[in-house]
Amino acid sequence: MSSDTAVLVSISQEIWPPRHRTYFGSLQIQSSAPGEPYAVTRIRGCTGVIDLGDKRTMEFAISAREIADDLARELNGDSGEGSFHGVFVAAGDSPTDAELADARRRLREFQEKLVAAADLEWERSHNPMFITDLERRAARQLSLEKPWLYDPKPTIECPVCAERIKPGVAVCRACGAILDREKAARFGLARSPRKERPRNAEPQAEAEK
Ligand SMILES: [Zn+2]
Repeated sequence: MSSDTAVLVSISQEIWPPRHRTYFGSLQIQSSAPGEPYAVTRIRGCTGVIDLGDKRTMEFAISAREIADDLARELNGDSGEGSFHGVFVAAGDSPTDAELADARRRLREFQEKLVAAADLEWERSHNPMFITDLERRAARQLSLEKPWLYDPKPTIECPVCAERIKPGVAVCRACGAILDREKAARFGLARSPRKERPRNAEPQAEAEK
């Protein structure tokens, strides 16, 4: 039975929390150390137990390969389509150059996808809060310089809605409150107090629907 082993390979330096399964308890997945191309975690086949009730149980074998595939799927797969975090199951006793190259390509493709998504988000919102940690890590791992890697401007809190906004803005982009009346009037976003029209002269078009 000890011959049933599988080789789980990680090309990532990410440290994962231990994995838990009823049939093997807790398992720490090895991450590659800086300067090392990969790390290997050897997985052994296990015997699981099904509780049939009435104090009856049934044992069943789980192969090392099944366990390794399950772990790889879990470690790679919580970050959307094409999600890959650098873990795979080697066909043999140690990963081949081809397997490692394939894993590096998949990881790079996924990281590039994350960076592209962050670029798009940045173009849309210019808000570093919408950039995920995963996207920042991907950009750093690809050695890319991106404006959204940093949070250069501090934000203040809108006194009306408490949303984080840039200091010095005329109008809160979240709730529309006018925070600087003079500045808002200058850019045509609000009438200056002196030019305010009487209430009954307001156009009625908005009332129709
Ligand atoms: Zn606001």
